[in-house]
Amino acid sequence: MRNVIGLGMVMLVVGGLGWAQAQNASSQGKDVFLKCGRLIDVKAGTARSNVGVMVQGGAISFVQDGFDYSRAAKPAEEIDLTHETCLPGLIDTHTHVLLQGDITAADYDEQLLKESTEYRTILATVNARRALEYGFTTIRDLETEGAGYADVDVKKAINDGVIPGPRMQVATRAMDVTGAYPLLGYAPNVPVPHGVQVVDGAEGGRKAVREQIMYGADWIKVYSDRSYQLRDDGVLDDIPTFTLDELKAIVDEAHRERHKVASHAMALHGVHNSVEAGVDSVEHGNYIAEEDLKTMAARGIYYVPTIFVGAYVAEGRAAEGAPVWVKMLAVHEDTFRRAMKDGVKIAFGTDAGGFAWTVNPAKEFAYMVKWGMTPAQAVRSATMTAAELLGWGDRVGSIEQGKQGDIVAVTGDPLADVTVLEKVDFVMKGGVVYRKR
Ligand SMILES: [Zn+2]
Repeated sequence: MRNVIGLGMVMLVVGGLGWAQAQNASSQGKDVFLKCGRLIDVKAGTARSNVGVMVQGGAISFVQDGFDYSRAAKPAEEIDLTHETCLPGLIDTHTHVLLQGDITAADYDEQLLKESTEYRTILATVNARRALEYGFTTIRDLETEGAGYADVDVKKAINDGVIPGPRMQVATRAMDVTGAYPLLGYAPNVPVPHGVQVVDGAEGGRKAVREQIMYGADWIKVYSDRSYQLRDDGVLDDIPTFTLDELKAIVDEAHRERHKVASHAMALHGVHNSVEAGVDSVEHGNYIAEEDLKTMAARGIYYVPTIFVGAYVAEGRAAEGAPVWVKMLAVHEDTFRRAMKDGVKIAFGTDAGGFAWTVNPAKEFAYMVKWGMTPAQAVRSATMTAAELLGWGDRVGSIEQGKQGDIVAVTGDPLADVTVLEKVDFVMKGGVVYRKR
């Protein structure tokens, strides 16, 4: 997300997670019965009291009222969550596990110039574990920021049980045009790495899609705009990166190969071109014209607003005398509220990695509620809606028979106070417990 943030300095200091419980992962395939004091039905947006959930072979075999499971054989383990609220494992649809926060350009350049891909991958394994312990049992990681195809290997290591981490869909290298994406500003005779695969022309776009899919990309990520200016009429202006023809070729090639496209688009032209080209999700969308919101609603294009990262930076920068960032935030809020009114599908995404992974990305929930969602709607955006965006609506995103045993729990009621989701104290993924207080 390097295009989002350009200058200023903000301290990111939050205590790290305890790692102690993470390797409690002995029970894949073991039958486990969860006694949930309350359980959130994300479809209905309500909570049920005293619900039992049987997880067998990593999947949910039944969900019932009460804790009498006599219809099944006695499970190997019972877990007492009677003082907790259970909900489906959370889903963050916009992360960067290969990035350690890039609040300043210098932070970003340093990571690409001075850290090897191998070292960055080691750090990514720690971030993946953090994501899981925060309660995110599934993430869509939207590009490696110069670390090549390392996300494919992180995903493989998780799926093979080598390291703990969430289920992942990955975008590998992402794409932008010549001269649009860092590293920039170095002398012409000094070769520097870029945070994306540099792609020009429709044929170049098609070739890059083929290449990235060949090496393991689940998603194709494009950067559709850059260089943002707030106009007097409140419209956030930009320079579109790809031409519409180039974007259309990339989307067509990805869809032809049964893959989806996520587009970084923060402002007027970038969003419009993305929508016209038929991308599957618009990332950030700080300003979206009314006409484009209507098209997104009609075509089912998802909006991933990533509010927290912008708000976090804005507050810090306004305090340092740059109030324009707060104005941009007001534009974003207006867009978010219009998107809700127009019925655009909004999926939870945070840009974690754009801020340090020591900060819990679940802070996003409070901003969604502050900007007009009910807590139930915010929870739904991070469960069912996010699962649908990923094409995994049949396996994650709700606690139902047949779905994966991805269940988290919190003390308190997230439907009354969504900030309790910043304190997930129980995490199960695929029937394996990774965090238990
Ligand atoms: Zn990003």
